[in-house]
Amino acid sequence: MLNNLFTKLEGYYDEMVSIRRYLHQHPELSFQEYKTAGFIQDYYEKLNIEVKGEVGGNGVVAKIYGKKPGKTVALRADFDALPIQDEKDVPYKSLVPGVMHACGHDGHTATLLILAKTLNELRDELEGNYVFIHQHAEEYAPGGAASMIEAGCLEGVDVIFGTHLWASEQTGTIQFRTGPMMAAADRFEIEIQGKGGHGAQPHKTRDAIVTASQLVVNLQQIVSRKVSPVNAAVVTVASFIAENAFNVIADKAKLTGTVRTFNEEVRQFIEEEMQRIIHGTCYASDSSYQFDYFRGYPPVVNHEKETGILIRCAQFVPEVKNIVETEPEMGGEDFAYYLEKVPGTFFFTGAKPIREEDGYPHHHPKFDIDEKAMLIAAKTLGSVALNVQSE
Ligand code: MN
Repeated sequence: MLNNLFTKLEGYYDEMVSIRRYLHQHPELSFQEYKTAGFIQDYYEKLNIEVKGEVGGNGVVAKIYGKKPGKTVALRADFDALPIQDEKDVPYKSLVPGVMHACGHDGHTATLLILAKTLNELRDELEGNYVFIHQHAEEYAPGGAASMIEAGCLEGVDVIFGTHLWASEQTGTIQFRTGPMMAAADRFEIEIQGKGGHGAQPHKTRDAIVTASQLVVNLQQIVSRKVSPVNAAVVTVASFIAENAFNVIADKAKLTGTVRTFNEEVRQFIEEEMQRIIHGTCYASDSSYQFDYFRGYPPVVNHEKETGILIRCAQFVPEVKNIVETEPEMGGEDFAYYLEKVPGTFFFTGAKPIREEDGYPHHHPKFDIDEKAMLIAAKTLGSVALNVQSE
């Protein structure tokens, strides 16, 4: 049946590409993916596959029932885009100003839709049931996974698998990892309130830019001097806003950024340490502050048995040349929530564009994928989904 599945998937490759390109041209931001959700739901309805929309928000869940008894396997793809202007020079460039599929979620969706269509054609031979979780809002906390789970998308599910097309790895590579694979991703905002005034009379002010600058430097010491070097952590100040005329001392400054960790203790420690440093720095400059720390996704922790199944099943895919263990990634992923509920594994499918000059990182305005990777992702997920029945 696996060969049959592969042949069918190959036959639908052109459709997969056209779905991906259509979505690429029509990206929607997290929590606003109404048309994308509608497109997905329509696709299933036209195939007479059971489908439900508005699952925990804009989520869409489809189900296929095999003729033979077996496990219920969930496969997940996310479908939101990013607030980035598409700067690629390709015919399928985004048509929406300032919004772009710069992470490959369009490819995830095309992959899963075609895999579902193919499995549906094989359902007379299928063991078990297959749940296709099309998740909205992966890019922006609180994300779509938690609310979709709350709305019941994992009910009856025995095991879950998901993949991310990974543009920094060669096409033909599958990257796996048991245990922590992606980081907890938190966000913070710090607003410093000084006292503005004339640029020529600094002694009558409390310069918010100077205080915020000290704070940026002081925060660097958390990872370099406070967290044990054997624990991975990131504290990034990503924006510094203090707009003013050239001869005015800033009244206010705002810093925003992100914290990444793999371990709950380190996560907690960093939040407390930030609080202490902000307090101390602002105290020294006689300024006040507002500090908000928003907990994002927990770390993605893959299960051992299911990761083993992935490694074995990826070998059946002819285009897979390399199955390698990945280092943990500091990026966050709300696939983490599914893995807290049911066993499973999340993996990377290499999708590096063929031309070296097209290889931009995820979230870059010129980001693109090698579309052939979608076929590999579909075959790998399909292989896992069929073979997990006999495990
Ligand atoms: Mn992503």
